[in-house]
Amino acid sequence: MHPALRRFSKAHFFNYDKHGKDWNVKKGEKQSPVALSTETAIPSLAQKLKFINYNKMLVGPLKITNNGHTVIMSIPVVVDGNQPAVCGCKLKCLYKAVQLHFHWGSPENKGSEHMINCCRYDAEMHILHQNCAYALQNDAIMANDGFVVLSLMLRSVPHPKREPSIINRLLNELIHVRNAKQTRLLRGNFCLRDFVKDVERDEFFVYKGSLTTPPCREAVNWIVFTKPINVSENYIKSFWSLRDYRGSPLVNNYRSIQKLNHRCQDKITSVSGVFKLKTRAQEIAQI
Ligand SMILES: [Zn+2]
Repeated sequence: MHPALRRFSKAHFFNYDKHGKDWNVKKGEKQSPVALSTETAIPSLAQKLKFINYNKMLVGPLKITNNGHTVIMSIPVVVDGNQPAVCGCKLKCLYKAVQLHFHWGSPENKGSEHMINCCRYDAEMHILHQNCAYALQNDAIMANDGFVVLSLMLRSVPHPKREPSIINRLLNELIHVRNAKQTRLLRGNFCLRDFVKDVERDEFFVYKGSLTTPPCREAVNWIVFTKPINVSENYIKSFWSLRDYRGSPLVNNYRSIQKLNHRCQDKITSVSGVFKLKTRAQEIAQI
């Protein structure tokens, strides 16, 4: 077995006590998460990001699981048997949605993984998509174009004007998955669009990076939406009572900020569906 995959198979034993600084992972030059900035990012020409089957009902019931590191929801097929997927933008392939999960803080700390304009948000949701060219997840992990992760920042506010109902719905069930390995079914009809409909979907950062959990392989095209979603603070607080696989409080489950090294940041902005190139100060990262 490849050493990276062997490390992956031992992955249940990692924790966030040192935010990943003590993980036994081989680090390259393109690790994640990173600090992003709308000031230094380079506006770029690109097609719109396309959401395929995001508007079709998922074949439920949806299941959430406390896996000892996060709360994760597997993404099933939609009613016609196909998988929700993303393509477009600068992506060369189709990427099917596999699962979504969260990173969060504690009463003392905010807990998003990425930082935007020096701001760490209260929590971050990742929707993991796997390149359809790879049948097996292990093959995708070993490839540099294995995954696309859509990243949404969650901001805690006392009384949000617009509430992301499906995210609230999911967070409302966390009390039932307090301990590692506990699962809970979400009843009702949902589509994946429900999870992203409150975010400004035409403005995001794109960069090449890594998984933020062991083995931290540099297999990810990151798409980080610039604007956060407002979530009621009571729902954000519900993360803090979860327990990890050791029975310890599952809080602050974010990896520390990694160096950008030679990567540049692409900030892609939509202007009525037409993308305008404002500056091209340096080579734009291709994905
Ligand atoms: Zn994640």
